[in-house]
Amino acid sequence: MFSPWISRPFFLLFAIPVFSCTTIGFHEETIRNSMAFGEEVSFRVCVIKEKGVDEEDVTTLFQAWNEELRYYHLKAEPKVLAEMERPGFYGSDILDYLLSYPMLDSCDRLLYLKGRTWGDVFFEIVTLGIFAGVGLKLEVQGAVEGKTNTKGYIKAKYISTIQLLFTSPKSTLIHEGYHLLGCGHQLWMKECYERIRDVKSLLNDPKRDPNFFPVITTSGKKILKRPI
Ligand SMILES: [Zn+2]
Repeated sequence: MFSPWISRPFFLLFAIPVFSCTTIGFHEETIRNSMAFGEEVSFRVCVIKEKGVDEEDVTTLFQAWNEELRYYHLKAEPKVLAEMERPGFYGSDILDYLLSYPMLDSCDRLLYLKGRTWGDVFFEIVTLGIFAGVGLKLEVQGAVEGKTNTKGYIKAKYISTIQLLFTSPKSTLIHEGYHLLGCGHQLWMKECYERIRDVKSLLNDPKRDPNFFPVITTSGKKILKRPI
């Protein structure tokens, strides 16, 4: 699932300054408050990070995500697995790498935190030029694979380029975090609330691996057992 500022840049150009929203859809507080999300449950998010993304960044990012997850009585617990060099320049290289990376027994989700290299800075300058020229933002801030919705990456480091006008590592994590719970993109959040409620109800499914926090993929497939 690519972030919507790729597929719907013009919509977000309009929307972000006007509304305070999660970037995945607009919250519907009354509906959310009327729904029962059950007990508080934690899930374990294993983190692979690049050099330059430090423990403090991980803590700050997860604090922001957990503030959002409180709505659903959920908590994401980070566990840093490894620090490594980027497996390839493009986001698709990272997703390919994650798809082949085994989901360990101690992990319910896998999150790759991308840092910022000189190559990235160069790429940002080039895409900034394209952005200024034709009004398109080509750079992807994060993505979650659609096969199991359990593995994804975000750009964890930005500096003060035009990116910060549109997004931040925290809002990217919140956005991709919704995909990690099975939500797609929608204008209004009701559908996503229902998805999270349904995912939580899978905790009572007898077919579930008791050591895995399940998910329903964006296309509606139940993932009850740890993928690969
Ligand atoms: Zn998205």
